[in-house]
Amino acid sequence: MAKDKVDNNKAKELKKDFQILKNNLIYLDNASTTQKPKVVIDSLKKFYENKNANIHRGVYKLSALATKEYENSKKIIAQFINAKPEEIIYTRGTTESINLLAYTIQSIIPKGKEEILLTEMEHHSNLVPWQEFAKRNNFKLKFIRLKEDFTLDLEDANKKITEKTAVLSLAHISNSLGTINPIKKIVEMAKKKNAITIIDAAQSAGHMKLDVKNIGCDFLAFSGHKMLGPMGIGVLYGRKELLEKLSPFNFGGDMIERVTYENSTWNKIPEKFEAGTQNIEGAIALARAVNYLNKLKMENIENWEKELTKYTIDRLKQIPEINLYNHGIENSSGIISFTIKDIHPHDIASMMDESNIAIRGGHHCNMPLMKKLDIPGTARISLYFYNTFEDVDKLIIKLNEIIKKFNK
Ligand code: PMP
Repeated sequence: MAKDKVDNNKAKELKKDFQILKNNLIYLDNASTTQKPKVVIDSLKKFYENKNANIHRGVYKLSALATKEYENSKKIIAQFINAKPEEIIYTRGTTESINLLAYTIQSIIPKGKEEILLTEMEHHSNLVPWQEFAKRNNFKLKFIRLKEDFTLDLEDANKKITEKTAVLSLAHISNSLGTINPIKKIVEMAKKKNAITIIDAAQSAGHMKLDVKNIGCDFLAFSGHKMLGPMGIGVLYGRKELLEKLSPFNFGGDMIERVTYENSTWNKIPEKFEAGTQNIEGAIALARAVNYLNKLKMENIENWEKELTKYTIDRLKQIPEINLYNHGIENSSGIISFTIKDIHPHDIASMMDESNIAIRGGHHCNMPLMKKLDIPGTARISLYFYNTFEDVDKLIIKLNEIIKKFNK
């Protein structure tokens, strides 16, 4: 176990797998997208050089090879979250996974249910599709309150989860506050009222071990590009019994069983949800990314990120001008938001860029949350396993420089 541990030295070594990090780039915007290791980039190239064919259609060897690799990628992803391969639907990312549900879920909502429950910290991707759903279907939207310490108010959750709750959809980790939500507990509360549960795992899938059976959720969505994979490939996990009942989202080739001029019947799951030519090379490369993560072990990644997060928060707390939007390390991921009085978050991020340090400044697709906190946005650091103490030290030096410059 100790041998496998990811520590500062190991992180430095792992950086070498990422060509883009070799040019003195201090990349601390991993919540937006992570960098890609060589194995993932190579996988994309190899697909086009040696395996390019459409799947499920050709009888020739090349098509059979592409089909086999695509199907195999599903087994790898399924195992990664303790699901069955037929419970894995490929999408373009978390946004599309949630839209798929917002457009189809009406088909499995029991009568008498008329509310969608979200939280006050959702990314626009897990808010706007439900606003539109509510308008189309005349449902009410409700929100679990955020407490002063940036965690969810579970008493409020208990009150708002009722027999009327059709769907509870919430982020595992907040992309702006870094709060890790007690999803297992909240899912349990929702199950008692027979609500459908959806987890937005965009910020957790590449950072900690996920087990959908243990969480007990009905659906879980994540994006490949936030966990070393390519852009444009993502996952929607759905419980088999529910996917079988759920209406299809996109209609066309591959998702059908039989078609006449008048009517069609649907393929089995998961193909029922995968109309048209898929991002085959993306799916295969995502499986390579998952293999890379598996080799490191999610537990080791999580532990190192925790240690580095603690180091970062401790250093930030030593700077009196910094206002942290973070309650403490116990409940927080490697996403750390802060503001500095009289300096706009965009200015902080721009000045960081002068030193080749990439951080994010803005509302992070959380406009209502920023309004609630009464700020235009935050500066956000988001860590990954290839970040080091030295990366954080350089960030702190630059932050002190920025503050000094503005205080002149
Ligand atoms: N949910 C959360 C919590 C996110 O952080 C993001 C991406 N920032 C999304 C959803 C949307 O992911 P994507 O853009 O990959 O669809």
